[in-house]
Amino acid sequence: MTTMINRQILLKSRPFGSPTEANFELVESSILEPGEGRFLTRTIYLSLDPYMRGRMSGVKSYTEPQALNAVMQGGTVSRVVSSRHPGFVEGDYVLGNDGWQEYAVSDGKGCRKLDPSKGPLSYALGVLGMPGLTAYAALFDVGRPKKGETVVVSAASGAVGSVVGQIAKIQGCRAVGLAGSDEKCDFVTKELGFDACINYKTEDLHVSLTTTCPEGIDIYYDNVAGRVLEAVLKHLNIGARIPLVGLISQYNATEMPPGPNLMPLLVKRALIQGFLVSDHYHRMPDFLRDVSSWIKAGKIKYREDIANGIEEAPRAFLRLFSGENFGKLIVQVSEDSNRTI
Ligand code: NDP
Repeated sequence: MTTMINRQILLKSRPFGSPTEANFELVESSILEPGEGRFLTRTIYLSLDPYMRGRMSGVKSYTEPQALNAVMQGGTVSRVVSSRHPGFVEGDYVLGNDGWQEYAVSDGKGCRKLDPSKGPLSYALGVLGMPGLTAYAALFDVGRPKKGETVVVSAASGAVGSVVGQIAKIQGCRAVGLAGSDEKCDFVTKELGFDACINYKTEDLHVSLTTTCPEGIDIYYDNVAGRVLEAVLKHLNIGARIPLVGLISQYNATEMPPGPNLMPLLVKRALIQGFLVSDHYHRMPDFLRDVSSWIKAGKIKYREDIANGIEEAPRAFLRLFSGENFGKLIVQVSEDSNRTI
């Protein structure tokens, strides 16, 4: 019998500032036979997400840090290769948390079966998964959009932001994005149907926010914090809501930038509320019903940025922080025979 090899990416050292490829190590190990009540999976897709940067730091926040010399954590779509688990059989597709590796053994906890006839398997890591639910739950439950309101969202071409703006449009709002390149802004307006998109790297934010949001901002869905948040605050309407969902502008900071002036929040009686998707999984049935039907109806478009091979995971991950990723970043770890698009 030939021994099958599992290639895994470990966290080798903790980054100071921006992560580099040297923080990771590619190792090979032999694949374990699943014991009673377990099954072996082969990873098809691995999700790369900004939260992973926080876990690499070794500081406990809302969850435990990523351990050194352990396989990097991450969401996966996999196919069952062999099973001694009563609920899973060879050939099943599962959404799990197997991390940055080609094969994994699971006891099924936290896994959900996927039906490939319902749409691309990889969507379970993005538009129909954790990032999509983040968009949906924070927009509806914290943002509470009303027809005719103006919704501004940062990182607008990304996994979360792209869905936020499209749902805002479905709700009859004006959607304005912020993104880091003209190409991304074109995609956001021309493909996704936002009303406007500001290149926050080249445009004067105050001038562009005044032009694109002439009636002020009712919801700012914040994925980045920092100077974009500071500029947006000056354009808030009375009663504005700010789902504070991500602070990617400071994930690699070695010292905290001076904070924004929060006085407009007080003057405008605005609510700013922290958001963690893990508190909102009870919204999954509503979210899957609505967003699946909007995808089918062509009302939500979805872009993926797919790197190939587990060995590409560290290099691809760094693209999240340079903004070189364009769409939901995933790694294709093995062949997906169901893929049609
Ligand atoms: P994206 O697909 O949007 O990729 C990250 C994008 O962030 C980059 O492409 C880049 O876009 C932008 N970015 C990177 N560095 C900076 C910077 N210094 N300043 C401003 N923008 C920057 O990622 P996701 O959609 O997966 O995540 C978006 C945000 O949502 C993240 O902050 C993430 O942590 C947060 N999040 C929070 C969750 C929660 O439960 N609270 C759950 C899921 C995600 P550009 O080129 O446009 O700048």
